Amino acid sequence: MRSNIYRSLKYGFKYKNFRKKVIKHYNNRCSVCGKTDEFMTVHHKIPLRDTKILYSLNNYNQIKKCKLLWKVDWHTLLCQNCHRLLEENDKNNPI
Ligand SMILES: [Zn+2]
Repeated sequence: MRSNIYRSLKYGFKYKNFRKKVIKHYNNRCSVCGKTDEFMTVHHKIPLRDTKILYSLNNYNQIKKCKLLWKVDWHTLLCQNCHRLLEENDKNNPI
């Protein structure tokens, strides 16, 4: 289930700039398969739903101020294929 808070993060202006920063940092390289010629997805190492609970984030302003969400180190780049596989894995192995 993707919440509204998730949507506001993904489509916010800050996120667009942040995405560019992460792509540049990792040279547009997928961290799993190493491809560089695919559309890349920015992946949170800590799932957003966990960050939300951990920092009690309830609205977009709080998200914007949460430093953890805007650190390049806390993100990886994944091509769409690897991202899909990872999400399927998550679903099959809930922690
Ligand atoms: Zn990949």
